[in-house]
Amino acid sequence: MSKDLKFLQLERLQAVLNRVYKEVPFYRALFDREKLDPEEFGDLSDLNKYPFTTREDLQKNYPYNMFAVPLREVVRIQASTGTTGEPIVAGYTRNDLAILADLNAKALKSMGLTKEDVVQISFHAGLFSSAFGIQSGAEKIGASVIPINFEDPKKQLKILQDYRTTTLVCTPSYALWLAEVLPQTNINPNSLMVKRIILCGEAFTEKQRSLIEEKFKARVYNLYAVMEIFGAAVAYECHERKGLHFQEEHFLVEVLNPETLLPVKAEEVGEIVITTLTKEALPLVRYRTGDLVIIKEGLCPCGNVTLLTSGILGRKDEILSVRGIKFHPSQVEKIIEETTGERLEMQIHLYRSEGVERITLLVALGESLFSDSFAEQEKVRERLEEHLYLELNLPIVVKFIERSSFERKDGKILKVVDKR
Ligand SMILES: [Zn+2]
Repeated sequence: MSKDLKFLQLERLQAVLNRVYKEVPFYRALFDREKLDPEEFGDLSDLNKYPFTTREDLQKNYPYNMFAVPLREVVRIQASTGTTGEPIVAGYTRNDLAILADLNAKALKSMGLTKEDVVQISFHAGLFSSAFGIQSGAEKIGASVIPINFEDPKKQLKILQDYRTTTLVCTPSYALWLAEVLPQTNINPNSLMVKRIILCGEAFTEKQRSLIEEKFKARVYNLYAVMEIFGAAVAYECHERKGLHFQEEHFLVEVLNPETLLPVKAEEVGEIVITTLTKEALPLVRYRTGDLVIIKEGLCPCGNVTLLTSGILGRKDEILSVRGIKFHPSQVEKIIEETTGERLEMQIHLYRSEGVERITLLVALGESLFSDSFAEQEKVRERLEEHLYLELNLPIVVKFIERSSFERKDGKILKVVDKR
């Protein structure tokens, strides 16, 4: 990080800490309890002494108690539909929205977007905040934006063709769904104008990236959003696509071991923790996003020197505990890849029978497996069960199914279905 950036961050951080102490009773109580005086904050490393903010804190302060400005200065309010507890409410002042548009415009420009582009933004309701952010950035550049909020993949593909869309923005699982449906339509993929697909809202693998790129003959980019922080473009992939660039003028980013909460070294998995530096309506101090990444060493050839990480690997709260054994779904994905040679989609079903916790693993039939004989498939299935047992010490029943049969929520394939 450059000296100038460090200085800018320190200046902004001091202002934020003083402001939340003054304006947000939650932070005043928290800082008082820890005997922290923001006036004494003198170095970026002093942030280590400050407590974290969690999703639960935002839920407890539903709807407006985390806001640092009076409601009359808030011009947009967005709520997430949480699966448990109260929803999380994010607010934006006029200035916040201007920054949101700037951050998105910067990210989209670095992916090559210009005013000549036609941008189809397709998100379901839960990702509206990202949709608005990306839309404002694309409009700032002067591109033509088509916002869409329905799911039907065939209709979506028809619009992609008819409107000569050059840029599609959606979730990775939705893009995979479109890729699956494309051959069932009479659309010739070569006739499509789409040249870039921007994925946002979930983690995806390099294997999934190349599958989508192949089907659509387009380049796939990663855009990272945290609804509670900013609808979109907290970090993004530039045209070099070497990893996520964080917009550090606006966010102070820490990557911490989720257990010890100490900084991780390069090439180690850590949780992204963000302190907002410029947000007015909802400033957050050391917000634990739950998203896991690996810090990358070296610089991106684009010349941008801000923090570079891998794409999101998964979520901290996805760590599962079965019969007292803890594992992350990404470990299961890795074992599947090692055993079958393919990065196949999967779904973990957890349930209880006769009082015992049990696991069934559904795995999508990949192209090579699909063409194999039943006896061949059986061999792979048995080998997979063996590997899973050796690696995780848990008996897991494996079943191959077709991709379209997976249980979905809002179009997303659920990685875990917990019926315990
Ligand atoms: Zn770059």
